[in-house]
Amino acid sequence: MNKILCKHEYHLIEGNIPVHYPDYEPIKYGQTFKCSKCGKEKKILAKCKYGYQKALNKIIKDYEKAKVINTNDVSDGCHTFGELYDHRAKLFSVICNQNKKIAWKSKLHSDGTIPFNDKNWFIVGINTKKGQATYHYEMKYWDLFKVKELDIAPTYDGHTPEQAIERILSIAEEEV
Ligand SMILES: [Zn+2]
Repeated sequence: MNKILCKHEYHLIEGNIPVHYPDYEPIKYGQTFKCSKCGKEKKILAKCKYGYQKALNKIIKDYEKAKVINTNDVSDGCHTFGELYDHRAKLFSVICNQNKKIAWKSKLHSDGTIPFNDKNWFIVGINTKKGQATYHYEMKYWDLFKVKELDIAPTYDGHTPEQAIERILSIAEEEV
């Protein structure tokens, strides 16, 4: 393809490359774009690093709000969010079903509210010796969790997602 006639289609090939030239100038960050049709390169220098992740996450949110994409279909190239969430729910159901004595599920939070104000969600938890671990899942997973149903969930102890997974990991070291 002729570089002059080409209607370039630029793609990022390198980003946030520190550039320090000449020496007395403050450091800058280079972004390199290359035309996928003719191979022409375009370089842009900026004073600050470009927030690629922030920009990408904003695009995902905007597109989701505009209903042109479903975040479940967003992929890292190997797995979609939807697939990972589906596996997370099913894997946790196995953990709960194998530890029925300490597991529970409920359609209501401890304060009587519906998760996300949407009847399509429920809460499921496991009471480990290190404290509770809970997740919200869509109702389509309800029957997978063959554990006792509570009218309302136990009082939430404020655990973070990180603490939840640590507590789940601790079950492997204890006798239930
Ligand atoms: Zn081109």
